[in-house]
Formats: sequence, C-alpha cells, structure tokens
Amino acid sequence: MQNLSNKIQDAAKKLLEEKKVDVVIGFEQGSLPLRSTPYFARTPEETANLIWNSGCENNLANYLRKRSDKVAVVAKGCDVRSIVVLVKENQINRDNLYIIGIPCSGMIDQNKVNAAVNGKEISEAAVNGDQVVIKGEGFETTVALADMIHDFCNDCKYPTPVIFDELIGEKIVGKDNVSYAEIDEFEAKSPAERQAYLAAEMSKCIRCYACRNACPMCYCSECFVDCNTPEWISKSIDAGDNLIFHAVRALHLGGRCVDCGACTRACPMGVDIGKLTRKLAKDVKVLFDYEAGVSLEEKCALSTFTGDDSEEFLVKE
Ligand code: SF4
Ligand code: SF4
Ligand code: SF4
Repeated sequence: MQNLSNKIQDAAKKLLEEKKVDVVIGFEQGSLPLRSTPYFARTPEETANLIWNSGCENNLANYLRKRSDKVAVVAKGCDVRSIVVLVKENQINRDNLYIIGIPCSGMIDQNKVNAAVNGKEISEAAVNGDQVVIKGEGFETTVALADMIHDFCNDCKYPTPVIFDELIGEKIVGKDNVSYAEIDEFEAKSPAERQAYLAAEMSKCIRCYACRNACPMCYCSECFVDCNTPEWISKSIDAGDNLIFHAVRALHLGGRCVDCGACTRACPMGVDIGKLTRKLAKDVKVLFDYEAGVSLEEKCALSTFTGDDSEEFLVKE
C-alpha cells in the first residue's frame, strides 16, 4: 500500500505542478485506527499527505458534482461506477475531471473489526500483509484481513475502474457475476417473514439520513423526506415511516445504485439498508440486463423502453 500511496502522490504532484487540475481529491490518514479521511490537495506540497489503504472506504464521487474547477480524483472501482452514473445524469462534466483509477482489493468493514474484539475500544490497529493486528488496553488480537473485508467488496464485479485517465496498481479481476446470495435468501422467505425482517430492521433506524448523505446518487436539492408541502412522511421516528423512507429511496435508486455500500457503511445503527437497494439492483439486472455505472454509452435502464421489456412487476386485475 505504501508503494501505491507514493505513486498516487507522484501522479497528483505532477498534475498540480503542470496546472492540469486545481485540486486532487483523495485520502489522508484518519485520526482513528484503520480509518482514512477524504483529503483535498491544492498544492504540490500537500500531495505528500495522500495515502491509499484498506480504510479508503468513502465514495469520493460525492465531492464531484456541479464543480466548475478542474479536479482529479483518486477513485476505486465503485467510485468510478458512481462517476459514470453522475456523468450520464449531467452532474459531472467529464472534460473537467481527471480520474486516477485504483484497482481495489476491498475495504475493511469496521463493524467486523469491532466484532472481532467484542466491541472493546481499539487504540491501535494496522494491516500487516494478509493480517490485521488490533490492539487496545490489555489485549492484542490478530485476524485475517480477508475476514474483515466488507460483504459488498467480496461480491464486487468491478474492482478495477471501468474508466480512468491513469491507472495506478495492477488490474484486479472481479467476480464473474454478483451472487446476490443474501437477496435470494430474502426472496425465498414468505411475505410475512420478509415483512417481519424489514420491520425489525426499520425499528433500529433513527432517521439520521447518514445513508442518504453518503450516497452519491442522493443529490436532490430537496429530498422528499424534507418536504413540508406535501409532507410525505412524518418527521418523527416510526418504523412504518422509516420503511416508507427506505422503500422510496430504494425506488429512486432503481437502475442507479452501483452497489458501493457507502450507505450501509455510514449507518450508525447497523440497519441492513442494502437489502432494499441490492434487491432493486438485482431486479434491474434480471429484468433489463442492466448494471448501473459500467458504461458511459449504454442508455440508462429507466430511460429506455422496448416492446420486449418484462412486465412481470405490473399488477394486473
Ligand atoms: S444506495 Fe448505497 S450502495 Fe447504492 S449507490 Fe447509494 S451509497 Fe452506494
Ligand atoms: S431519497 Fe430520493 S428524494 Fe431523497 S435525496 Fe435520495 S433520490 Fe432524492
Ligand atoms: S438507516 Fe441508518 S444511516 Fe440511514 S437514516 Fe436510518 S439510522 Fe441513519
């Protein structure tokens, strides 16, 4: 990773020195163990702070919309898929964006790390080869890095960016097909079991909207949940209204969600938000053979129509 960090720094420094971009958006070391933080390098000197590691989990596409300056971004596979969607939705001017693509070997899931030490406070942690060494007061634990990788990353088909201006690191081959195993399992449940599962998940939600704010596709200037006229859902926390928020949000993301997992990672309550967004992503794939963010040329699933389109989802008398 040190090698990748150095190469990112060199590439970023060159871009700024040659004045090809005004800013390079990447990551710097975070203040907590195994955490990295988005970082904006505006001078060649500042590029020395850029790093790359398994904690660079934020989706940096969030910082690219509606900018008038020239920007370079350090982007992993799912960030680039988000960029592709946003370019197609006229939110990003591709001509003003330089993509430093990074093939991604998966991001660490902090929830798995916390579970590995039974929720004890971690004061120090580091990736050492294929292991993670975690330390705290009175304990030191070593776990396999592979066991700490986020489920979204384990099911990733596009770890290597689908478009880039410069690629740093060796290409990584993704899965042939996304398995959606947990969605298959969910679909196999009875309607009552599915309802019970969702009700239990929704009762955990405190409607903090971190999931929405972490999502590059949730960029509406006024989200439907913030409307007063009409007021689509109440402002109080209620499992029923929570479900309306998540169900409507998932529908807004149909054919647009790139399965980056940023929403799930942002949730402080461990709500299984991915159950709805991944279900939609799977349905769009199965019904329309469309995956969001893998091609700049392919028309978006919901903006095209053919007489052969599946209508199984229509409710008919
Ligand atoms: S809904 Fe979640 S997984 Fe999908 S694009 Fe948004 S943040 Fe990523
Ligand atoms: S949930 Fe829907 S309305 Fe709200 S920001 Fe996301 S896409 Fe927009
Ligand atoms: S699902 Fe999680 S992140 Fe989203 S609003 Fe609820 S508590 Fe917040």
